[in-house]
Amino acid sequence: MKLAKRMEHIKPSPTLAVSAKAAAMKAQGIDVIGFGVGEPDFDTPEHIKQAAVAALAAGFTKYTPVGGTDDLKQAVAAKFKRDNSLEYARNELLISCGAKHSLYNAFQALLNEGDEIIIPAPYWVSYPDMAYLAGAVPVIIETGQQAGFKVTPAQVRAAITPRTRAFVLNSPSNPTGSAYSSEELRELADVLLGTGVMVISDEIYESLAYDGFTATSIVTVEPRLKEQALVVNGVSKTYSMTGWRIGYAAGPAGLISAMCDIQSQSTSNPTSIAQKAGTAALNGPQDCIQEMLQAFDRRRRYMVDRLNAIEGFSCFMPNGAFYTFPTVSGVFGRKSGTKVISGSDDLAAALLESARVAVVAGSAFGADANIRLSYATSFETIEKGLDRIEAFVKNLI
Ligand SMILES: *Cc1c(COP(=O)(O)O)cnc(C)c1O
Repeated sequence: MKLAKRMEHIKPSPTLAVSAKAAAMKAQGIDVIGFGVGEPDFDTPEHIKQAAVAALAAGFTKYTPVGGTDDLKQAVAAKFKRDNSLEYARNELLISCGAKHSLYNAFQALLNEGDEIIIPAPYWVSYPDMAYLAGAVPVIIETGQQAGFKVTPAQVRAAITPRTRAFVLNSPSNPTGSAYSSEELRELADVLLGTGVMVISDEIYESLAYDGFTATSIVTVEPRLKEQALVVNGVSKTYSMTGWRIGYAAGPAGLISAMCDIQSQSTSNPTSIAQKAGTAALNGPQDCIQEMLQAFDRRRRYMVDRLNAIEGFSCFMPNGAFYTFPTVSGVFGRKSGTKVISGSDDLAAALLESARVAVVAGSAFGADANIRLSYATSFETIEKGLDRIEAFVKNLI
C-alpha cells in the first residue's frame, strides 16, 4: 500500500512512545522507573469530575456547537481577563480537543506549502511534525543551556525571511522548563510586531511556575500583538485533566473562524461532558493548582540536585512545567558494557536496558546533548530512579 507523501516526515510522538515502551515492560513484570511521562500524576480534582457526572446524569450527551459551548467560552474569556488582563470576545475563542488540537488547526489554517515557521529548539516534539503535515518548512533556531534555552531577539530577527508565516513560543517550555521574563518577552515582541509573522504562543504550562516566577503572556506584555498572535492553552496540565481533551485558543476572529471550520470538517465539537468539566475547572476554586505546585516544586529541587551530582551531567534549574533537561554530553564516548554511548538516543536506550529507567532522548526535541526527565511521578519513584541513573553512570567505562 502506498501512503501519502506527507507521511515521509511524520513519526509517532517520541514521548508517547517512551511511555508506551515503559508500560509494556512493566506489563511483562519488569520493574521499570518511568521518567517519560508528560502528564501530572495527580487525580483530576473531585469538583471537576462531579461536573462531568452531573452533565452525564442530566443527559448533556449530544453535539454541542463545533467551537465549544457558550458556558466554556465564557469561562475561558473570564480566565484570560483574570489571569492575563486580556479581553477576548466569543468569536475570538475556540475550544478544541486539547491544546494540541488547537495548534494543529492553527498550523493547517495558517501555513501554505513552502511557508516557513520559526521554531526555537529544544522544541515540543509535535511542532515540526505539525508543520510538515501542513506542507510548511520548520526553521529551527538553536538555543543551549548557556542561553537558558531561550532565543534572543537578534536570533529571531535573523531567522525572519519573506516566507516566514509564524513563530512558535512555548513558555514555560516543554522540554526545558525554561520561561521568558516579561522583559525578554517585550524584546521579542519588539522584533515581531508589525512583521506580519503570526506569533503562536503555547502557554499550556502557564500555571506551573516556581520560585515566585509569574509566567506572562507575550500579548499581555504587548497588547498591540493581539491581532498578530494566537494564544493556546488548556486544562490538561493545570488541572491534571490530560485525558479529558479540552484545550482552547484565542486570536484574531478570522483565524479562529478558519480553525473552527477545519474542526467542523474533522472532529466536530470536543466531548460534551468534558466541556462541562473544563468549565468547572476554570470557574471553580483554584487552590488545587497550589497543592500540585508544591509537590512538583519539592521534586524539582531534589531532582536537579541529584542530577548535578552525577559526573558528566549538568542540569539547569527549570522555572516552570514538570521536566528537567540535563545536558549529558559529558558521558558521550563512554561505554555501557561493550556499547559506546555516542548520543542521547544511545544513552536513553542503555538506561532503559541496563538501568531500567525510561527517559526521553533529547534528539526528539532537537537537542542531542540532553535527556528529558519528568518529575510528574512520586518522590519515592524519583529517588529510586536517580539512584539507578547514578549507579549506571558510575559503571560506565
Ligand atoms: C502537553 C502539551 C500540549 C498539549 O496539551 P493538550 O491540551 O493535552 O493537548 C501542548 N503543548 C505542550 C508544550 C505540551 O507539553
